[in-house]
Amino acid sequence: MGLVVQKYGGSSVADAEGIKRVAKRIVDAKKNGNQVVVVVSAMGDTTDELIDLAGQVSPIPAGREFDMLLTAGERISMALLAMAIKNLGHEAQSFTGSQAGVITDSVHNKARIIDVTPGRIRTALDEGNIAIVAGFQGVSQDKKDITTLGRGGSDTTAVALAAALDAEVCEIYTDVDGVFTADPRVVKKARKIDWISFEDMLELASSGSKVLLHRCVEYARRYNIPIHVRSSFSGLQGTWVSNEPHFDQGDQKVEQAIISGVAHDTSEAKITVVGVPDKPGEAANIFRAIADSQVNIDMIVQNVSAAATGLTDISFTLPKTEGRKAIDALEKTKTAVGFESLRYDDQIAKISLVGAGMKTNPGVTAGFFEALSDAGVNIELISTSEIRISVVTRADDVNEAVRAVHTAFGLDSDSDEAVVYGGTGR
Ligand code: ADP
Ligand code: ASP
Ligand code: MG
Repeated sequence: MGLVVQKYGGSSVADAEGIKRVAKRIVDAKKNGNQVVVVVSAMGDTTDELIDLAGQVSPIPAGREFDMLLTAGERISMALLAMAIKNLGHEAQSFTGSQAGVITDSVHNKARIIDVTPGRIRTALDEGNIAIVAGFQGVSQDKKDITTLGRGGSDTTAVALAAALDAEVCEIYTDVDGVFTADPRVVKKARKIDWISFEDMLELASSGSKVLLHRCVEYARRYNIPIHVRSSFSGLQGTWVSNEPHFDQGDQKVEQAIISGVAHDTSEAKITVVGVPDKPGEAANIFRAIADSQVNIDMIVQNVSAAATGLTDISFTLPKTEGRKAIDALEKTKTAVGFESLRYDDQIAKISLVGAGMKTNPGVTAGFFEALSDAGVNIELISTSEIRISVVTRADDVNEAVRAVHTAFGLDSDSDEAVVYGGTGR
């Protein structure tokens, strides 16, 4: 008997009808002879609504209480899903992250899983149950407080459980038919990818393709768990994410593409530290202050210093949600570092082109910049890795820029338009 872990995102369980539809799919997997563990997200936009609500009672809610609030969303869906399965005549039990043995560190709102001890899940399965687990949450090892794994964290819960239970596959069910060459909400001509390597998927995910969370892909790569991303609204094969370049899908063998896709991200802001004295240690002081406030940064650019003043500007990007914290931390270092002022800009977007083929194909960078220039899009920052090029542009330009790059690299599909089955894109 095989063991499968299935994860259903918020848009798949947005209302009672959705929960009943998903319950039928789960029962089918069980009837096919599998032991089934299901990880479920909060219904529809519940998490966003809870965040809005918290903001109305406190501008900066305490991390512990914020996590306690947000985990309520997944509790609602797990219990309803278990009820719907029982109504179909099958046994199901729901578990919170803590009950399922998801142990984390104690960094509230973005905790990392450090261990998974799924004893209760195993027992529930051995007794013939379908186990339903609340995604996106755990319990901290030291303080035993409830934690959350960061937005989109149910993907990570699913892969972590799949690894701990030695599952054959982790199926991620969502509102599109798989991983596409760009976000189908932006590019109607985006193409579904049949197979993508962990490496490329990791770059797409960390560049903003929220169809999979980057921590989940990291985890899957570490434990070599194949992920199958597919729609809960259709019966189509989705996208396999795995190590093997020739992952076997029936008789079909899939080749690695040169360019995997275009990702975009509008969740970041840019901070510019203006007038930093150009001497050793200044960048270290600035980024130490940021790191000590637990803020993750992304791109960094330092300008050449003006010879006359000996001053330089340093810009970096970070999640908008961390903007306030970063500005507060930098303000405190103003006298010590001796910079002139800070500028905060949250009207930016990041556009990235990803593909392992970049390593060996010259001209990709030039083609990327030409496509942006032809679309009249101005580039503000640039960063690269071996298999990715990213630029920062004005937020207003993002959709046009993504479509232009997608077309320029021959990624447009010549068959059907990509289908988006549900969700609000929030
Ligand atoms: P879920 O609620 O199932 O977790 P998410 O909203 O987190 O779903 O992720 C699915 C969404 O990811 C899609 O609706 C799509 O808009 C977006 N997306 C962004 N980039 C891509 C991509 N390259 N391929 C597929 N979907 C993408
Ligand atoms: N409900 C959480 C969120 O909206 C976790 C998830 O859906 O993965 O971010
Ligand atoms: Mg998601």
